[in-house]
Amino acid sequence: MAARLAEEWFAICGGCEVTILDIGEPLLDVLKQVEIVHMPVIMDHKLFGQTGENAEMEIPAADVGLISGGIRNEEHKKLALEMRKKCKILISLGSCACFGGIPALANQFSTQELVDKVYRDSKSTEKDGLPHEQIPELTDRVYAVHEVVPVDAYLPGCPTTPDMVANALLSILEGKPLPALSSKSVCDECPTKREKKAVGTLKRRLEAPDFKPGAPLTEMRCLMEQGYLCLGPATRGGCGGHDGVPRCIRAYMPCEGCFGPLSEKANPMVDMMGALSSIGLDPKQIPDRAATFNRFAGAGRLRPAPRR
Ligand code: SF4
Ligand code: SF4
Ligand code: SF4
Repeated sequence: MAARLAEEWFAICGGCEVTILDIGEPLLDVLKQVEIVHMPVIMDHKLFGQTGENAEMEIPAADVGLISGGIRNEEHKKLALEMRKKCKILISLGSCACFGGIPALANQFSTQELVDKVYRDSKSTEKDGLPHEQIPELTDRVYAVHEVVPVDAYLPGCPTTPDMVANALLSILEGKPLPALSSKSVCDECPTKREKKAVGTLKRRLEAPDFKPGAPLTEMRCLMEQGYLCLGPATRGGCGGHDGVPRCIRAYMPCEGCFGPLSEKANPMVDMMGALSSIGLDPKQIPDRAATFNRFAGAGRLRPAPRR
């Protein structure tokens, strides 16, 4: 019998749903074994009954539930509770669901400051244009899904990787344990050449790093040693494909930190300050350090600074 699959999306861009398509051929194997019972991106399933006759929202029961996106409003909260109630196994899909992701950068500001900025203070907005009809109330900040309901597994990444989604779904279908997240950092999996000393000062990413197109990555100098801010030292590994080379490094780009901190207790600020200083780069040159080092993990880590 096919396993029943439900998917919901909250504060997202939709990239993690595209990742499901990017599974490619193995998706055909997965689809043979699942019955999709709820997935707003492809199905017009009515939450309150076909004609809106129900007072409470309802999602069909499922063996596996995927949630992308962080929780930004009261409707997301209710949907998260309903997904938890109806799904035997619940998985956070992508960094927005796992840690708040890019939308959680907003946690540096109060909800009132955000509303004022977007609906009142913006030059192109009419001052009385505050939306109010049938709009769910905003929560006080962006929450990761597991801050609101218990989650059984995490598939980080912005977006997460097709391999990770396929492996997780196939493991569930085959009755195997869900694959564990990598305990290594992106630096641990990075093949670039390191000499533990920066060749210059920190640069803006307006010029290309020094590399020979087509040459093996082992011949390229570490991007941070070349002066580009790379969050590899403070980021969980596992984003590489078949050969394990981190996705951005393979494209000669520094790591932005999308797989999140090394562990729940890790402090990317401390890890990055140490990594930069150890090769002779001054971390104080980096503006907006709290947001830069917690770019994808703001749900539990970014809060409004005390206002003077
Ligand atoms: S993790 Fe990235 S790709 Fe996925 S929904 Fe969030 S912003 Fe989009
Ligand atoms: S800092 Fe970046 S480029 Fe350097 S080793 Fe780590 S991941 Fe690779
Ligand atoms: S290298 Fe860093 S930013 Fe790029 S995919 Fe991997 S974890 Fe994400």
